[in-house]
Amino acid sequence: MLAAKGIRTAEDLLYHLPFRYEDRQNPRSLDELKVGEMASVIAEVRGFALLRTRKAPIFEVTLGQGRMAMKCMWFHGGYLEGKFHTGQTVAVFGKVEPSRTTRNFKMINPQFEILPDASEDAETRMLEVGRITPVYESLGGARLASRWQRKVIFHLLEGLRGAMPECLPRAMLDRLSLPDREMALCQAHFPPEGTRMDALQAWATPAHKRLIFEELFFLELGLELKRRKMRERAGISFATTDKVREAIREVLPFHPTAAQKRTLGEIVQDMREPSPMRRLLQGDVGSGKTIVALQAMLVAMENGYQAALMAPTEILATQHFLAARKLLEKSSRNYRIVLLTGSLDEDRKRATRSLINRGEAHLVIGTHALIEEKVEFDRLGLVVVDEQHRFGVLQRFRLMKKPNQAEPDVLVMTATPIPRTLALSLYGDLDASVLDELPPGRTPIVTRRVPDERADDVWDFVRKQVEQGRQAYVVYPVIEGSKDDQPEFDFAQDSPAPGSTEPSPPKAARKGKTATLFPKMVKEANPSAKSGLKSAMEMHEKLRTGPLAGLRVGLLHGRLDADDKEVTMRRFQRGEIDVLVSTTVIEVGVDVPNASVMVIEHAERFGLAQLHQLRGRVGRGAAKSYCILMTGERVSEQAEERLNAMVRTQDGFELAELDLQMRGPGEFFGTKQAGLPDFRVANLIRDKQVLELAKQEAARFVADPGTDVSEAERTRVRERLKEAWQRRYGLVEAG
Ligand code: ADP
Ligand code: MG
Repeated sequence: MLAAKGIRTAEDLLYHLPFRYEDRQNPRSLDELKVGEMASVIAEVRGFALLRTRKAPIFEVTLGQGRMAMKCMWFHGGYLEGKFHTGQTVAVFGKVEPSRTTRNFKMINPQFEILPDASEDAETRMLEVGRITPVYESLGGARLASRWQRKVIFHLLEGLRGAMPECLPRAMLDRLSLPDREMALCQAHFPPEGTRMDALQAWATPAHKRLIFEELFFLELGLELKRRKMRERAGISFATTDKVREAIREVLPFHPTAAQKRTLGEIVQDMREPSPMRRLLQGDVGSGKTIVALQAMLVAMENGYQAALMAPTEILATQHFLAARKLLEKSSRNYRIVLLTGSLDEDRKRATRSLINRGEAHLVIGTHALIEEKVEFDRLGLVVVDEQHRFGVLQRFRLMKKPNQAEPDVLVMTATPIPRTLALSLYGDLDASVLDELPPGRTPIVTRRVPDERADDVWDFVRKQVEQGRQAYVVYPVIEGSKDDQPEFDFAQDSPAPGSTEPSPPKAARKGKTATLFPKMVKEANPSAKSGLKSAMEMHEKLRTGPLAGLRVGLLHGRLDADDKEVTMRRFQRGEIDVLVSTTVIEVGVDVPNASVMVIEHAERFGLAQLHQLRGRVGRGAAKSYCILMTGERVSEQAEERLNAMVRTQDGFELAELDLQMRGPGEFFGTKQAGLPDFRVANLIRDKQVLELAKQEAARFVADPGTDVSEAERTRVRERLKEAWQRRYGLVEAG
């Protein structure tokens, strides 16, 4: 069970820190509670009952402290029968709510622990009561809950007393005033009497700081070494002659913005260097990354090398392919451009692979298939990865090249505006260029929230826009209505079972923890709405025959085969489709400047980053553009906040910061799928400052650890680094 949670060694367990603490030495009195706060309370069981209501059985416990009383209720609480007895002392933790029946308070679904009484052994009592008690996330049901962990961790710490190896140099700890590892672990698990509760809950004690620093230090140290290693590798020095400049000038469709010129300059500068380029190009949706990449690829091709462009979806790869072909038609060179995606038939794939292998394809555009199909390039010079966040954060691409060839340059592009600190740590081994200017002639997008009841007005508006020669997108969260048929998203499997409100630690309390599922969709505990969800297929039919009858309405979603997708996309691009009903497959990269309306139905179900990306599909031309966020179901507080933010601002960085705060970095990037290092104690938002410090210290250590760091300490740091990277980030990168 522990291994399933990633805990295989004693050390793993020791780094599983409590997610909160309870002061059981000075417990709160019931009359000092305030409605709305999260509180832990120790009280005596006065009575209990299982109430069978029509909806769900509720287990109710009355707790008392002197003359004060508080009710605790657990929905679906049948499983609690037999657990409580009058006279027991229990600790509960939950949100304090006003009670209607009495002047007192109540808690709904609080976490609880029955505290040991005199019949329990002294050690159990010592660990559970009369102290600041650590509370852990369960590692597997009731058996491996807090009580078990306290015991085991207590004994581990006892057993290792005086023998726990330090992994950071003494001099560094002294300089930063951080405690040693043993003390930090002891105090983070069992805080000494008098430790401030607010510092503990915020993970801001010296013990916590030390453990956070340690984790981030080894992350930054690894990144720093990788940067150095890459600089020593043999790459290609591309030449930028007048001939190359002329080749670019020939095809450029417009005047680049100052930001495009600057970023291209940075990229080309890297390309001229003999060491391989590893550069990140960040630019909000619509900032014009594609053309920058195309120019860089032209530099590679003009130097006699092949260039590869990888996109996360077939639609996007196809779009790039068509755009590149159109652009290079103007070129006096005869560049051959090929498209390689997974859905091509085997013959086409084989033929394309061989063109690439023989060096007859100069520009290769594709999806993941470029890696999966084991394509071997003849002379690969530059790899561009578009919309990298869709592939995974730290995943690196190794396209195959022939033996004994130089390391190609790599340019990674992303439209996820990554807050600076995060970019520094996550892409720490990449240099970054930022496109911070939109091409001229854009007018701000008007964003409005519209309730479902006013749908008729929305469709009227769409019709009017089409009459003016514009095009529109209408986006739905799912392809088809049935709930187990939603390949575009994974939220269906992830939402709680209908009506279930099992007690679980509140999200906000799980400091330092990141969630695990890629949030293609924001999960809302609104199970009844599932069946009422409008879908792309169903609404395509309804709109086509109803409110949008007479217009040319197309349908696009991930389950169409590649040819159909391509045909539909191309027809939309050429203006042969007026309204494109779609799922979020159009979220990344799709570029049709004539489209001026983006209608998003069930907007409350989409994440902020996703809404921003979708909105970025319009406002790409000079026409005034609109984003209409339609909401049907009950809108949660969080969704409300997201929608308001969308109306308030169009600034991708501002939205990203907000998104990050609301969801945490794990969900922001989609931890597991994205390969984001899964931190044990650090939290990149909370620990921004420690991260900066760790980065400085790592750079300093690599440059020169200093004479006060012994040889043994250096060795220990190196060993620890290897361990940390292999275990925590091992899957991220093999090399
Ligand atoms: P993104 O950064 O989101 O990938 P694109 O590269 O798709 O953005 O560019 C968005 C739109 O802006 C495209 O239609 C593109 O042709 C146009 N564009 C890019 N750069 C310029 C420019 N310098 N002047 C005018 N239009 C531009
Ligand atoms: Mg793009």
